[in-house]
Amino acid sequence: MKDTLKHQGLRQKLVDILKTKGITDEKVLLAIGKIPRHLFMDSSFLDHAYQDKAFPIAADQTISQPYTVAFQTELMQIKQGDTVLEIGTGSGYQTAVLCLLGAKVFSIERQNELYKKTSKFLPKLGYRAKRLVFGDGYIGLETEAPFDSIIVTAGAPFVPKPLLSQLKIGGRLVIPVGGDVQMMTLFIRKGPKDFEQHEFGEFRFVPLLEDKN
Ligand code: SAH
Repeated sequence: MKDTLKHQGLRQKLVDILKTKGITDEKVLLAIGKIPRHLFMDSSFLDHAYQDKAFPIAADQTISQPYTVAFQTELMQIKQGDTVLEIGTGSGYQTAVLCLLGAKVFSIERQNELYKKTSKFLPKLGYRAKRLVFGDGYIGLETEAPFDSIIVTAGAPFVPKPLLSQLKIGGRLVIPVGGDVQMMTLFIRKGPKDFEQHEFGEFRFVPLLEDKN
């Protein structure tokens, strides 16, 4: 598992591209500049790792586009020590970004193959999530709630109620909502039953599916 000067150079170029696309959060940009994205992908895709594109990983899933990772992370407004929940661990790349920002990360994956692979891989790189869970993100993680923020990294046909109810007051849920194309949506919990909703344009994710596999 090598991280060469060439990789580091390509990564800085990627950070510059994200800046030109409108990402401004310095901590998020630093994290993307540090994390060796090429190690999260199958070897045949190594040359593509620092393009701003999504790519296939195991189990017919994808590693999200870096711009999308940065955009969603920016919306979470993470502070050191925040307790956060990720739905859709996948390659673990987004999980690593959340760890580097100093969050206590819980992450749920429904594909056993990916759950196992990423559970072994992330600690090898030194990224220690609080817990990776093999389960169904539609029900969230009641035992560890409430969360400062929740990120969903798959396209949700509707907003799962448990995710809203597992937010702290003031907490933020970042979720792409829709069918083939999804609207990036931010919910901010203002009170027990009071949620503010903001929309941030269209994105394309693999679908949020029910049950484990
Ligand atoms: N954050 C990942 C993105 C992976 S793609 C990364 O950076 O690589 C979305 C992931 O969500 C896939 O791994 C898919 O298996 C997972 N997923 C889909 N539906 C889910 C559900 N109901 N619960 C948990 N994970 C789910």
